[in-house]
Amino acid sequence: METKKCTRCLKLLEVSAFSIHRTRGLQCWCKSCKRGYEIANREATNARHRRYNADGRLKAAQKAWRQANPKKCYASKKSWIAKNPEKQREMRRRWKAKRKAQDAAAQSAREAAKALRTPEWADKRAISCFYHVAERVTKCLGIRHEVDHIVPLRGEIVSGLHVHWNLRVIPGRLNWSKGNRLQEAA
Ligand SMILES: [Zn+2]
Repeated sequence: METKKCTRCLKLLEVSAFSIHRTRGLQCWCKSCKRGYEIANREATNARHRRYNADGRLKAAQKAWRQANPKKCYASKKSWIAKNPEKQREMRRRWKAKRKAQDAAAQSAREAAKALRTPEWADKRAISCFYHVAERVTKCLGIRHEVDHIVPLRGEIVSGLHVHWNLRVIPGRLNWSKGNRLQEAA
């Protein structure tokens, strides 16, 4: 049994009686000393917690823990959901609303880019053919297909045009993962 001496109560205690310290390994004071001190100095403790919260250290620590303990993280999430079904529904509803707003914004940005990158002389009929084909393939296969710009309209390096020779029909999933990056045509 590994032991350690608490520098406050001076008792020799099992290491499990100490909390982990970020850099030193274990805290100098045992958990019960630390707890007693925190209760006796509640204002200072609260202020310290607020600072820890405000400068993002809490979030970073929580994230690190989640990444180091994915299984525990999943289990605690699951048990929280089981205990708070209403809160979970409310969170889901809010998340969906947020996603919907983001999607709408992204959609209108795409439409604006399309309008901006469509030259006067573009073959509108040829362009609309691609959209028909995407629709037909989606229906026939039951897999969502989309019209993709080979050179993205809002690319990182170059921006393509909304013209028929810059279009192709690809499965929707590929289109999302591509984003605005320029890729070699498969
Ligand atoms: Zn102690």
